[in-house]
Amino acid sequence: MKTIALIAHDRKKQEMIAFVKEHLEILQGNTLVATATTGKLIGESTHLTVRAYLSGPLGGDLQIGALIANQEVDLVIFLRDPLAAQPHEPDITALLRVCDVHNIPVATNVASGRLLLRSLVSGSKQ
Ligand code: PGA
Repeated sequence: MKTIALIAHDRKKQEMIAFVKEHLEILQGNTLVATATTGKLIGESTHLTVRAYLSGPLGGDLQIGALIANQEVDLVIFLRDPLAAQPHEPDITALLRVCDVHNIPVATNVASGRLLLRSLVSGSKQ
């Protein structure tokens, strides 16, 4: 069982819900953590259980970053909005940085997210 972090900026939340629904079968076998609103929306739209932390702008990205630093997250799907400035830009940079520091796979768009989740399935068959 892997721990997967799911985070989506506001204009990416519908994309995240669609992504999660597309990968329900893979996701339900794993532990899911998320920032507050992303986690709440996923919980409302699916039967998945999500451990939600604070909202991104309130420190949620940093909380998930701390989990990553503690080696408690295996994979991150972070649907960033590349077209809007975020008030918590330093936290976003910190989260991505800590993924690189600890060599944790991170997808920042749906296409790369699909590849990462598919790799979990093929990995479990090996
Ligand atoms: P949210 O946080 O899921 O609480 O909206 C994500 C973000 O905007 O960084």
